[in-house]
Amino acid sequence: MSLFAAVAMAPRDPILGLNEQFNADPNPNKVNLGVGVYYDDNGKLPLLACVAAAEAQMLAAPKARGYLPIDGIAAYDQAVQGLVFGADSDVVKNKRVATVQALGGTGGLKVGADFLKRLNPSAKVLISDPSWENHRALFTNAGFTVETYPYYDAANRGIHFDGMLAALKAAPAGTIVVLHACCHNPTGYDLTSAQWEQVVEAVKTAGLVPFLDMAYQGFGEGIAEDGAVIRQFLAAGLDFFVSTSFSKSFSLYGERVGALSVVCSTAEETTKVLSQLKIVIRTNYSNPPTHGAQVVATVLSTPALRAQWEEELGGMRVRIRQMREALVQELKAAGITEDLSFVTRQKGMFSYSGLSVEQMQRLRSEFGVYGVDSGRICVAALNSKNIKAVAAAIAAVKK
Ligand code: PLP
Repeated sequence: MSLFAAVAMAPRDPILGLNEQFNADPNPNKVNLGVGVYYDDNGKLPLLACVAAAEAQMLAAPKARGYLPIDGIAAYDQAVQGLVFGADSDVVKNKRVATVQALGGTGGLKVGADFLKRLNPSAKVLISDPSWENHRALFTNAGFTVETYPYYDAANRGIHFDGMLAALKAAPAGTIVVLHACCHNPTGYDLTSAQWEQVVEAVKTAGLVPFLDMAYQGFGEGIAEDGAVIRQFLAAGLDFFVSTSFSKSFSLYGERVGALSVVCSTAEETTKVLSQLKIVIRTNYSNPPTHGAQVVATVLSTPALRAQWEEELGGMRVRIRQMREALVQELKAAGITEDLSFVTRQKGMFSYSGLSVEQMQRLRSEFGVYGVDSGRICVAALNSKNIKAVAAAIAAVKK
């Protein structure tokens, strides 16, 4: 018997499977609204000008590629702290945040998950229902039992906030709660700051461990606005985790640029936590890669480049909002009479459209419009050329 005879075929990643189906579709008017990637109005993945400028600067003074420290480029970690917590925040000034460079937001989550598993092996993890597909898989693979708290309210096209709060209040102390800091994936529905205040209070009272996933800072309302929830957790005096991703906000998907930050109670604890995060990294992939983080550190710490980034990020945010408005208009023009205000209430790249599995399948087979079976479509892949056809297709499957 061969060594691998007993290996079972793993299920295909649903979204990547959708991509393969899309690529094989001969329809010349096909549109891919499945993946979570921002495309510009020409349907192209942008290379931000601030990124190109930072790379030109780096190329002009080429550096040898030694190993980075286990926790990454110091200037990068510092820039992440400035962006997420504010360079002048008490926690940063008092050295109460351990930040490590990570392989994208996913890497930040995984380093945090592995550290938490060592810290409290019997803790459970709660994720939102529904959540980003990989949350459940990632925490399960780190050894945790993963359960959900209510989130999406299909009937009211919004958040089942009472259910969410009740689940948090009922969770045993030490439970790890994964929260989407902004631009909830997949629903697009975010908590208001008053609701966040109640969540912070519930988490504090129940003694839960908050893990904020911030994969879209700047894609919702703005950099500061999307990061406001962090200040609410800080104000409550909690210890918590934040994973950061620059995949979307810098359009640096393939460079794998992210971070994990852990807010601790004292500087002494922070040093110890950092030492443990380094063990997790060292025993997984030793140390992180150089290029992407150097680009982000250069942009964030060079005032002119940073201003350019903020403008370009703002441009992406505004275009997404315009596409939401245009989608509503085009759907109305195509004869849809129901209340579509939910589309513009949602934030970030995605819209939970409320379409059924059958309707999503018809969109694909009859119109070449590819979204996820859950009804999730990526608004950031709509543009002035494809929006009419997408709206007409949606209107057709709704009739
Ligand atoms: N968290 C959420 C909620 C996401 O939507 C994503 C990416 O789609 C990530 C984390 C992972 O980001 P990265 O590609 O930087 O690993």
